[in-house]
Amino acid sequence: MNYEKTAALLFPRAAKTIADYEKIYPRRDLPAGAPVTRLGPSPTGFIHLGNLYGALADERLAHQNGGLFLLRIEDTDEKREVSGAVEAIISALGYFGLHFDEGAAEDGEKGAYGPYRQRRRTELYQAVARELALRGLAYPCFCSEEELREIRAAQEKAGANFGYYGVWARHRDLPPAEAERRLERGEPFVLRWRAPAEAAEIAVEDGIRGRLVLPANEQDIVLLKSNGVPTYHFAHVVDDHFMRVTHVVRGEEWLSSLPAHVQIFDALGWERPVYCHTTLLLKMDGEVKRKLSKRRDPELALEYYLQEGYHPLAVREYLMTVLNSNFEEWRLRHADAKLEEFPFSLAKMGASGALFDLNKLNDVSKNVLATLPPAEIAGFLCRWAASRKPEAAALLATEKDYVAAIAAIGRREANPRKDLIRGAQIFSFIRFFFDEYFTVEDPLPENIGAEEARNLLTRYLQNYDHSAGKEEWFAMVKRLAAENGYAERPKDYKKQPEAYKGHVGDVSAVIRLALSGRKNSPDLWEIQQVMGEERARRRIEAMIENAGSF
Ligand code: GLU
Repeated sequence: MNYEKTAALLFPRAAKTIADYEKIYPRRDLPAGAPVTRLGPSPTGFIHLGNLYGALADERLAHQNGGLFLLRIEDTDEKREVSGAVEAIISALGYFGLHFDEGAAEDGEKGAYGPYRQRRRTELYQAVARELALRGLAYPCFCSEEELREIRAAQEKAGANFGYYGVWARHRDLPPAEAERRLERGEPFVLRWRAPAEAAEIAVEDGIRGRLVLPANEQDIVLLKSNGVPTYHFAHVVDDHFMRVTHVVRGEEWLSSLPAHVQIFDALGWERPVYCHTTLLLKMDGEVKRKLSKRRDPELALEYYLQEGYHPLAVREYLMTVLNSNFEEWRLRHADAKLEEFPFSLAKMGASGALFDLNKLNDVSKNVLATLPPAEIAGFLCRWAASRKPEAAALLATEKDYVAAIAAIGRREANPRKDLIRGAQIFSFIRFFFDEYFTVEDPLPENIGAEEARNLLTRYLQNYDHSAGKEEWFAMVKRLAAENGYAERPKDYKKQPEAYKGHVGDVSAVIRLALSGRKNSPDLWEIQQVMGEERARRRIEAMIENAGSF
């Protein structure tokens, strides 16, 4: 059959051929085996953990093996597009330390395999579609919505599979002359794939899942919609081929259309990329595991991690534990190594649900932050505040050294404190150090009334020597306790509770409340040293004045 006229009517403006594009986008000049990966987000304004999870796999795969990682914007659905989404994607991924070597950029794009926004690639899709039509591998379908409904109803009645295929594909075998007539009349059409008759099953070697045997595709799927815009299926094949992508890391929701995709690659004589279908991100909801949901789980959005101020290193570290099951064991053996030294492997990625656990992320984050120098934590907190807590940003920025000194509390010990997790939490944790944010949040210990507290604090102030070392200072507190009827050691009090008003811990609790406004805080002596004598004395004095009102 000759489809020349049909193809000419379908694509009157297609100027270049596939052969031309093969020259425009030559094989990449990379060492053999160097992977080219890509992220293909749709600019809907919602960037989620799944994007980051896939992107980290893409990035590691490429950069660990001398390849490159590119950003392609899949913007074929104009209705869902949100302005500024591309910038948001680049900046969110950049925050987590993922940088693209090529592709869409904030100020345009970089690289020789573009354009990297699908809407700017119309000519390319048309050129490939034209050749498919010419070879009879694609055909125009003029079926109206109404006709498609009729087909569906008939399929339902006959107990047949739904869809546009085989005998149900009304326009699959339209004589070229009729198709040409309808095109000349300007009838609207979609371009459909003419699914070849082939073996009932196809085999694909998935980079994550291994050998997959799937039912072959029989559907004449839509390649170009009636407005000429490609479907995901078609655009992905054309783009991944001409961008010379070697590994397609994408969500498992695409597994069902994989047979159609490989069919198109094969029919065009193009080398298939290695498909790597990642698994769903799950969470525990009570006793059950379920898919993370956009509506129910704020932690699905990357915005959540930016707002809460998770450190990029912590998020990457945690995600790597989810990506590769052997990462944690590696980390035990290489405590100080950079994450990039870990030999990431696709084969170690799970195929049956990756459990995402915020508590575990928090634990990982505590450990990661414990390894960062205090000045870096201070800088990080200031940057977080600048974008996420503007009312505190100026104060933190002018007091950066003070913040660093606060962050250093308890870190000189062999077993350093691990209580810093993320920006918002760090800020709440340390805000009492600033007079602007200090309030008394907790009550006095139950066994100590306002009058007693006043008395203890007055004496404490009289005895306080800011230059005393930690042990000397604590000896003073014990003395103060003993002189006022409190046991010097909690165990003495336990043995003979009737002999004391309480123990040294109660006395410290009053001092702690005066200094921090809280029942729990890091080491008191260190707090005073960091706050400075004047601020520490002022807080104690204020408590003496106001003890009755708490
Ligand atoms: N635009 C597609 C999505 O957001 C990309 C899938 C792919 O990576 O191939 O789901």
